[in-house]
Parts: sequence; structure tokens; C-alpha cells
Amino acid sequence: MKAKINIAIDGYSSCGKSTIAKAIAKELHYIYIDTGAMYRAMTLYALQHGYIAADGKVNETALIPALDLVMINFKYNTDTYKYETYLNGHNVEREIRTLQVSNSVSPISAIKEVRQKLVRLQKRMAETKGVVMDGRDIGTVVLPDAELKLFMTADPKIRARRRYEELKSMGVDTSMDDVLRNITQRDLIDTTRAHDPLIQAPDAVVVDNSNLTIEEQYQFVMHKVTQRMAVFSE
Ligand code: C5P
Repeated sequence: MKAKINIAIDGYSSCGKSTIAKAIAKELHYIYIDTGAMYRAMTLYALQHGYIAADGKVNETALIPALDLVMINFKYNTDTYKYETYLNGHNVEREIRTLQVSNSVSPISAIKEVRQKLVRLQKRMAETKGVVMDGRDIGTVVLPDAELKLFMTADPKIRARRRYEELKSMGVDTSMDDVLRNITQRDLIDTTRAHDPLIQAPDAVVVDNSNLTIEEQYQFVMHKVTQRMAVFSE
């Protein structure tokens, strides 16, 4: 019998984690969990409630006690066949992708209490296995026992170009320079923060997709998935 496994995908900003995670989840009929969307929803909440000043400084003293009022979950949209992010009952899937949220998400994600709340939720979501989860600390903190761990990376300029094209296709008005600056800044905060920084788990398979097509990457990763599933199946 084929056992269900958990697959943890970590990596830098905009290096295609969600594309590959969604493709694996679709192929295996697993659940895809975008943990970045949860940190983005938390950031949107902080922006909406004035906990982030115009200069980007976060009022942690006010935000931390309010964390209990924040409810984040995903719902499956049967029209788009996608899981969408909800913040306190409102669909925020579009709002969380703006550059305003992208520019504030890393400082919010660096707050210990924010991470504790979201990590707890994420661990619970993966209890029944059959989950593909992507983020920054999945293989190291959220699912350290995941049966397969991937660590994704790509050249920052290539990542910025892909992200810029994606935002443009979504109708978001931005420039290549702004996107590259945002990616570089987020990578720096995400890799150097004190709590759960982005680091490669020692047992992760590294996927550098700078020069891979989506199809080539998919074939490589599915080969690893098949190998790991065979190990954990009777
Ligand atoms: O994956 P995405 O780029 O949407 O994530 C947005 C931000 O959320 C990241 O730059 C990072 O600061 C934060 N994040 C995190 N831990 C995760 C997932 C995302 O700190 N597991």
C-alpha cells in the first residue's frame, strides 16, 4: 500500500516553491499549504489595524496582544480549483499579494509570537500526512520529520524577472528594480532573523532551478518523491 508522506519545501523568495508544490500536490492528490500566505495575511491584518508605521516600523507591543483576534485559514474554491486564504472570514487571496504586503511581511514574520502562533497551526494541518507545505522553516521547524525535504534556490536576478512577469500578468503595477529590491531585502531578513531563520535542513535535497524549465524541475522532483514514497510504503 502506498503510504502518505509529508513533503517540506523551503527556499528563497520567488524561486518557484509554490509552482512545484502545487504540481506535486495535484499529482498525488495531496493538500498544498502555502505558509507564506499565512504570514502575508498576518501582515495585512497588521497594516489594516495600524500596527505598521509609514516608515515600516512594527508596533510589536500593540500587535502581540492582538494575535488572539487573528484567524487565518484556507478554503477550497471549486470554481478556480485553488485553496484561498481567509483572514477573519474574508477572502484576502488577492490583497496579500500586493507589494505593500510584500514589503512588510519579513519584519512581521521575524516576530517570535507571530511564528509561534502560525507554526502551531501549520503543524496541526500536517498531522494527517499527505501534505505539501512550502515556506522558509518547514523542513527545520514545522515538519522536521517530513519524509521528503526540498530546498529551492535560483539566481536572484532570474527570480526577480519571473516574479515581475507574474505580477505584471496579475495586473500589478511595479518595476523590475522594485521587485529585485524586495526579494533581496526579504532574503536578508529571512536568513538572518533570530527566530526560525531560513536555513537548509541537512537532509534536504537542493534544487537550483536557475537553468531548469518548470518541466525539467518537475521531473527531477517527482523522481525524488517516488523514491521517498517507495521507502515509506509496504
Ligand atoms: O512564500 P512567500 O514569499 O509568500 O512568503 C512571504 C514571507 O513570509 C517570506 O518572505 C518570509 O518573511 C515569511 N515566511 C516565513 N516563514 C514561512 C513562510 C513565509 O517567515 N514558513
